[in-house]
Amino acid sequence: MEKDLIRLFELIEIYNPSFDKKIIEKAYHFAKRSHLGQKRLSGENYFLHPMEVAIILATWKLDTKSIVAGLLHDTIEDTAVSRQSIVNNFGEDIAVLVDGVTKVTNLRLKGSIQKDFVENLRKMLIAMSKDLRVILIKLADRLHNMRTIEYLPKNKQRENSIETLEVYAPLADRLGMGKVKGELEDLSFKFAYPDDYSQLKKISEKYYKNAEAHILSITKSIKKELDKIGKKYEIHSRKKHLYSLWRKLLRPENDWNFEKIHDIVATRIIVSDIGMCYEALGVVHSLFKPVPYLGISDFIAQPKPNGYRSIHTKVFGPAGRIIEFQIRTFEMHRQAEYGDSAHWAYSEAKSSSKLSDKVLESGIRFSDQKISLVKQLIEWQNEIVDSDEFTKSMKVDLFSQRNFVFSPNGDVYDLPNGATPIDFAFSVHTKLANSMIGAKVNGKMVPLDYKLESGQVVEILKSKNSKKLSSKWLEIVVTTLAKREIKKQLT
Ligand code: MN
Repeated sequence: MEKDLIRLFELIEIYNPSFDKKIIEKAYHFAKRSHLGQKRLSGENYFLHPMEVAIILATWKLDTKSIVAGLLHDTIEDTAVSRQSIVNNFGEDIAVLVDGVTKVTNLRLKGSIQKDFVENLRKMLIAMSKDLRVILIKLADRLHNMRTIEYLPKNKQRENSIETLEVYAPLADRLGMGKVKGELEDLSFKFAYPDDYSQLKKISEKYYKNAEAHILSITKSIKKELDKIGKKYEIHSRKKHLYSLWRKLLRPENDWNFEKIHDIVATRIIVSDIGMCYEALGVVHSLFKPVPYLGISDFIAQPKPNGYRSIHTKVFGPAGRIIEFQIRTFEMHRQAEYGDSAHWAYSEAKSSSKLSDKVLESGIRFSDQKISLVKQLIEWQNEIVDSDEFTKSMKVDLFSQRNFVFSPNGDVYDLPNGATPIDFAFSVHTKLANSMIGAKVNGKMVPLDYKLESGQVVEILKSKNSKKLSSKWLEIVVTTLAKREIKKQLT
């Protein structure tokens, strides 16, 4: 058997010993054959890419169908293989996954990176994928593409890196996949903002060094106290990723003052159980005074929306320098690093460390009976955004009732079901609606009462002068914004 296939099998066996080897082997040969003769820009055989994607998915402990779909993920898009032939060979479920990845791949961040538009693109991505596994396969795909981005032409490097920073890294973050998020950001930063990257890399060096030396001096005393408890623990310090350091320095309240970044090197105390988290907190505070007001955040008692759990505390170290400690259990640490892609499955199969495909899939799948993970993602989003955004997102409710359409320059607009080109024009700008004489969808003329669908590009045709709005429009539009504006202008 081929070496890479053996490696894949070994990875899956760790968490899913009874998996269906035959179907993976079939997908392996099917994909290899389909991509035969195709090369990546690196000069390597194209098949190397889907193979690496499957391997990433296996390290995330996904079910067999996801791994099969990972192997096949570029076949519909890039080879002569049809959806039907995936159905015939691998069944409808896997075809849905491969098809989903193909659709999501075609969603690109072409417009501005203004907050609303990017947010809409992320929502659209989730809405179109329907199954969380599609997002996970897409994340693995992007991760491998970013790892090999050096072979792309400069303009593509920049485009893909910005898209990764704006769309994919935040998605990984929402799934609680801290390690994936960090890697995506670090790979992208250099290509998206090369000048800032090299500048920051240079000036941050001495701050990293100072912080590391400082931390080394204070962890000694902490270790001495923790040893007395007599339970297993580890202390490691980790440099903050350059990209998140950059984002933090850019915040107005920090304004490039490195002294204000207390976690430039974060120190983690990882312990055996929750009780010991609080004991360790006690140890830290008995040795170093917590900083008033900045003090403690207990994300164990109140986890972050993406499921992140840890206790964070900022304390005064020697010479009054502030340092951040993060205290968590080994299990919380695993989740924060590798994500919860398997968390929902784990919670169902807590007792056994070995998971069956059925358990894995039932956890990951989008289904009505269970808490839909897509819905959960939306809820996380709701909790993250501020209250104005919150009400807006609440109205979004389930994405199936929303349409995400593009303007000709690629900005994404979020409209309710039944929205027409007139609603679209109003959501862009009242002025545009006022001079509207017609509309094109995907380049073709449509009537003004045309019902828009997700993914379409809408272009509004304008007259030179603005005109009086027609009262008929009131019967056509569905958005409150359009209704209000038309009524206002008619009276
Ligand atoms: Mn791919």
